[in-house]
Amino acid sequence: MGVCIQCDKEALKDSDYCAQCEEREFKKIRGWLYVAAFGLIMSILSTILSINSSLRLLMEYYAQIDGTRKAILFFELFAWLILFGFSLFTSSLFFRKKRLLPRCYIALLVMWVAFMVIDLLLAHQYLAMPFAYETVQPVIRNILSACIWIPYFLVSVRVKRTFVR
Ligand SMILES: [Zn+2]
Repeated sequence: MGVCIQCDKEALKDSDYCAQCEEREFKKIRGWLYVAAFGLIMSILSTILSINSSLRLLMEYYAQIDGTRKAILFFELFAWLILFGFSLFTSSLFFRKKRLLPRCYIALLVMWVAFMVIDLLLAHQYLAMPFAYETVQPVIRNILSACIWIPYFLVSVRVKRTFVR
């Protein structure tokens, strides 16, 4: 049995830390969770930018935009408002280390994927947008990222021991 790498107490079996230091380490948001926090911040920023640009488009060109395009713009605006609100809510759970966080983070990932798939299909169907690398790639990237993060939030020990309140 070794010695704790942070103090000189006896370390736990299979650990670099003693009981108190390990508890403290796990409580901090570390490792992959920094990346997850960055994802939440990006989600908030990207929805703010999207809401802003579609509002400007609607206000400046309201008369010129045809009905179908207008309907899709309103759908996007509505979806971004929901995603923005839910991202803010999830961030508050994240930084308060709430037990509900893993489920909300997963729900947010699923909502993003659902929105992106629906938006792509609508644009393809009604605005004649082709399925091309530039249009499909962001959707695939989101699906892949959800495929990594969902299992992470379900099985990670760090997640279980961080979001305990
Ligand atoms: Zn220690």
